[in-house]
Amino acid sequence: MYAGHVGVALGAHGIRKAIPLWLLIIASQLPDWTDAAFCLAGVRTSPEGLLSHSIPAVAVLALIAALSYAILLRDPAGMLLVAIVVLSHVAGDYLTGLKPTWSGGPMIGLMLYRRPSIDFIFEAGVILAGWMLYRRSLPPERRSREPVFTLLGALLVIQAGADVVLSFTTGLRKC
Ligand SMILES: [Zn+2]
Repeated sequence: MYAGHVGVALGAHGIRKAIPLWLLIIASQLPDWTDAAFCLAGVRTSPEGLLSHSIPAVAVLALIAALSYAILLRDPAGMLLVAIVVLSHVAGDYLTGLKPTWSGGPMIGLMLYRRPSIDFIFEAGVILAGWMLYRRSLPPERRSREPVFTLLGALLVIQAGADVVLSFTTGLRKC
């Protein structure tokens, strides 16, 4: 899942405005950043993503993110939402890609990336739902301002771009 992750972050920010959007975007992409960090460090696993996208790895990442958030921003009530946003990452990836469950366990995923047009419809739906939650959280006089719609348009364009690339390649490289 690509821009759909940002859609989830946007929706979570709409639910709880106290959590900064930038932080939720990082949380929503945390397994991918972890993947990129391991990749840059030259750490490779078989199957790929075992240390970033498997069930135990994501559980650890969600816990680290939630605890760091609660300690740094002193908002224990928001930590559950931060954890859910991290966990949502693999839920999305299970639909769009193929991810490891645990060491020696099966790989699961619907691989929507193989059908970029269906991937676009799915991710656009996630983006739209997240954006609507975000928009609803704005004061009524700001809801119909141009930047609010530009944000939706930009996310959809980024997703469309990713799906166009996917229709020519098998995936986007992480590092
Ligand atoms: Zn991922």
